[in-house]
Amino acid sequence: MLYLSTRGHPDRRHFCEILLEGLAPDGGLYLPERYPQIDEGMLARWRGLAYPDLAFEVLSLYVDDIPSADLRAICRKTYTPEIFGTPEIVPLKRLASGLHGDGDETLYIEALSNGPTLAFKDMAMQLLGNLFEYELARRGEELNILGATSGDTGSAAEYAMRGKTGVRVFMTSPQGRMSPFQQAQMFSLRDANIFNLAVEGVFDDCQDIVKAVSNDLEFKRKYRIGTVNSINWARLLAQVVYYFAGYFQATQSNAQQVSFAVPSGNFGNICAGHVARMMGLPIRQLVLATNENDVLDEFFRTGVYRVRPSADTHETSSPSMDISKASNFERFVFDLLGRDGAQIRSYFGDQLRATGCFDLSADPSFARAAQRYGFLSGKSTHADRLATIRDTFERFGLVIDTHTADGVKVAREHLQPSVPMIVLETALPIKFAVTIVEALGREPDRPAKFEGIEALPKRMTRMAADTDAVKAYIARHCT
Ligand SMILES: *Cc1c(COP(=O)(O)O)cnc(C)c1O
Repeated sequence: MLYLSTRGHPDRRHFCEILLEGLAPDGGLYLPERYPQIDEGMLARWRGLAYPDLAFEVLSLYVDDIPSADLRAICRKTYTPEIFGTPEIVPLKRLASGLHGDGDETLYIEALSNGPTLAFKDMAMQLLGNLFEYELARRGEELNILGATSGDTGSAAEYAMRGKTGVRVFMTSPQGRMSPFQQAQMFSLRDANIFNLAVEGVFDDCQDIVKAVSNDLEFKRKYRIGTVNSINWARLLAQVVYYFAGYFQATQSNAQQVSFAVPSGNFGNICAGHVARMMGLPIRQLVLATNENDVLDEFFRTGVYRVRPSADTHETSSPSMDISKASNFERFVFDLLGRDGAQIRSYFGDQLRATGCFDLSADPSFARAAQRYGFLSGKSTHADRLATIRDTFERFGLVIDTHTADGVKVAREHLQPSVPMIVLETALPIKFAVTIVEALGREPDRPAKFEGIEALPKRMTRMAADTDAVKAYIARHCT
């Protein structure tokens, strides 16, 4: 399998070549040349597989430059009950009230958040950590990952890379802005290859620093700077696997269809669902849920993609979905427009930069988003979140996190008789305890291994929001 850029660059690359890269040379995102098709026989065979072996089967279709035995060993080392909490890795919970006719009898929650940092990002990041270590050792190279986080990505990256040979992580975060639990998760790590930089500023300052460092090509090359952001194809590929795992758990036969509802920000998670559907997994609908930052809901309702100025980004109680533009969205639009690289270059390169907007409402392709690709969408607000958390607890005894609540709220608006609807649970409630207390008047449960975490010593370096200071810090710590 070879990979191409969404913006039409003529080069084709192998999986391990794009593994350690961010954008394609022309600024596009990497996608496989075509989506491998699964048939009846494969689905039947995969239905009985344990999660790590299912992951191996899916990855094998996309990875031709890691020997099979090695790839299988990486999958088995990554997806263990010790790391993800259960033998199923992504168990399905059914929301059943016992009352028939209210539609909820077909609503499921797929638990993706029982990894080391209690958010679904662990599902991909843990695999990425092992793939990076493998590939860097094979090349005899090192990599210094520089990132910016508002919470979930940074901790998932650090827990995936801690103690790994050949990798250091330099993670910037806005000083004092993450939840106390998130700060404790990151700053309590003591591994010598993890560096926390608490920047005096907001998340956008952190992102600007990362961009400025990455744009300094000489520094980037000299210090072997890389990223792990959500446009990384390997992260997206890892996420394709749990759509299969959810499907098998919710159905008895491969003739059945399911729908998925996905709390969305940068469009990475639901893009993996799109890939699974393109491969032939029987998915009826992909239901995209946003919070008050509704740039994607607006697109799927109107055909207009209107990036918000970052100053207009709402700070919400589902903060991991607080985005002004969706960095993975270009991949879907590439497919929607018949994989026309020139058109993508014009929309995402020129038009977005000039006007912050493009309009497909009059383009015949726009109708295909729903009709051919199965996309539906909806939006959820703080009041919806509170009401959904309360309702889910009162009727089903289940406490869900704020992001998952956005998913449940929008999923309910799109239920279809006899098509199971699987809501992807993207975090555990303990990460966003303040809102749970507001909704339920009680603290969410805390997994035992996080007992007392806020009291541990904090290891981080405070810095001004200054690119040169961050560069100097990296230079001092890469020896
Ligand atoms: C990252 C994240 C999301 C958004 O996922 P995308 O892939 O960016 O769409 C939703 N919920 C939680 C808890 C997250 O950490």
